[in-house]
Amino acid sequence: MAENIEAVLHNYWGFDEFLPLQREAMECVCGGRDSIVVLPTGGGKSLCFQAPALLLPHLTLVVSPLISLMKDQIDSLLECGVSAGRLDSTMSNPERNEVFESLRTRRLKLLYVSPERLLIPGFLDFLKGHGISSVAIDEAHCVSMWGHDFRPEYRQLSILREALPGIPIGAYTATATEQVRRDIAGQLRLDHPEILVGGFDRPNLIYRVRRRVNALKQIRELLDRHRGESGIIYCIRRADVDEMARALSSHGYRVAPYHAGMTDDDRKKSQDAFIEEEVDIIAATVAFGMGIDKSNVRYVIHAAMPKSLEHYQQESGRAGRDGLEAECHLFYSGADYLIWKRILEESEEQGAEIGIAKLGQMYRYCAGVTCRHNAILGYFGQQPAGQNCRACDICLGEVEGVADALTVAQKILSSVIRQGERFGADYTAGVLIGSREDRILANHHDQLSTYALLKDSSRSTVRDWIDQLTEQGCVERVGEYAVLRVTDKGRRMLKGQEQALLLEAAKKKLPKPVIEKDSWAGVDRELFEQLRRLRRKLAQQNSVPAYIVFSDATLRDLARKRPLVPAAFLGVSGIGMKKLEQYGEEVLSEIRRYCGAKADEI
Ligand code: ADP
Repeated sequence: MAENIEAVLHNYWGFDEFLPLQREAMECVCGGRDSIVVLPTGGGKSLCFQAPALLLPHLTLVVSPLISLMKDQIDSLLECGVSAGRLDSTMSNPERNEVFESLRTRRLKLLYVSPERLLIPGFLDFLKGHGISSVAIDEAHCVSMWGHDFRPEYRQLSILREALPGIPIGAYTATATEQVRRDIAGQLRLDHPEILVGGFDRPNLIYRVRRRVNALKQIRELLDRHRGESGIIYCIRRADVDEMARALSSHGYRVAPYHAGMTDDDRKKSQDAFIEEEVDIIAATVAFGMGIDKSNVRYVIHAAMPKSLEHYQQESGRAGRDGLEAECHLFYSGADYLIWKRILEESEEQGAEIGIAKLGQMYRYCAGVTCRHNAILGYFGQQPAGQNCRACDICLGEVEGVADALTVAQKILSSVIRQGERFGADYTAGVLIGSREDRILANHHDQLSTYALLKDSSRSTVRDWIDQLTEQGCVERVGEYAVLRVTDKGRRMLKGQEQALLLEAAKKKLPKPVIEKDSWAGVDRELFEQLRRLRRKLAQQNSVPAYIVFSDATLRDLARKRPLVPAAFLGVSGIGMKKLEQYGEEVLSEIRRYCGAKADEI
């Protein structure tokens, strides 16, 4: 059987290797065993049930919570030459009849349905009559109240186990907590399920955190590094989204807004424009993202700090599903903390205190001085990924240790004390850099011995250091105005009894991260751009999103291997028989033309 799976993977998807745990997950399905598969976003969960579907005699039934997710997966399957369909409430009668017809004639390998549809009396019996070989429950954390997207209908899927004896049920999710996993097994009454839990880390995501000084300028610098690539910018409030979209459009960026204050119609237009790559950027609140499977999101920018690391992990996780490097860049400021705190305190919801504690952890992550990957893994109770992830601002050396950190820390702590522990971080930074602003002069703080002691540093650098000292427990922020107070640890540091570590942005120009260099190694950039344009044309002709025609990984491999004949085309990662048949000729002639023109130049 294993060999067959490999052949299926090669012929239909054009992949020659399994991603971690894919083989094991597929073997469960083929071997008739129940399973719970927990893989991170981009871990290749869908293939775990899609590839076996081609080896099993009857239908694979897929339960999925969102129509957009179903559509996306079905588009991809059809593009690979796999017969798949769906039944949902938005379909017309003729469309539905067509699916029923292909069920009757047993042409369909995979059928996607919502839980509501599956629970319609008689529907499951009808499907059983046509033969079911396996069941996949996608986004299975929806079963659990402990998960973040609880869907009551998912609980009723417990009927499946009894109704379909001997048929393997696989539950797939990216939500890793033990509690959710147990809940899934219990609620779905799975029979001694094989539990496969993949590493939670996303090594292809490059995490960076910077203090926000001039948001638009900082964001534009980043966008200019990612010209023509797809990305998401998350903002806290609807007004921030509108403002961001307006400002970026006025500078010529192709951007659409998305938030809950827009009409359903306008939101859909924005989402479609992003998926179909009519715009590069979507500026959005947290309302955007659920059900978006776009694999080639190359960056996720947070224009402000999210309210928890759970949110950050989920939102930033929308980048780089195709496994290629993607940048997750977070801009934060103390103001974000205060905005969220107010929102949480004013919300009617229970648990504002838990929310504020999570907010504090989020802030500490921003001000943190340890590997970002490990900080996130640690937060979710997972083992660190290693010493040096080579994919975050800290491990890449984009920030470096301040040479005389203890002296600098002592200057800051001493100023906090001399100011009577009655002022916040921004004010303290002002005193230390020797600002002439009115409030400092009015308080005669220009007379303090700590005034202008750090005059060679910028205000935002000093603010950063204060944050780092807060994160390290040397100062704390108290009260409504987040006034700084020196802790016991801070007092020991003042006496030189504690070590100090402070970081600042590296002054030297740094090389690109290794993962970025590796994934571009050998790629002919000019050809890549040409093929990208061709991909857009093919996508429009076939009314599917560009990333479904070819993933970015496939496009790079094409521009690396430059195949000129069909056999070589099939050797490109992500090219199976159907893609050869459908696009081979056009792509090959484009590459031939390109190579011919290059040869003429020589
Ligand atoms: P998930 O549902 O876990 O987020 P997907 O199933 O959407 O992940 O897969 C993520 C990406 O990885 C897709 O672009 C898919 O084509 C690709 N992929 C899946 N399996 C493999 C494989 N064995 N080799 C190479 N790429 C793969």
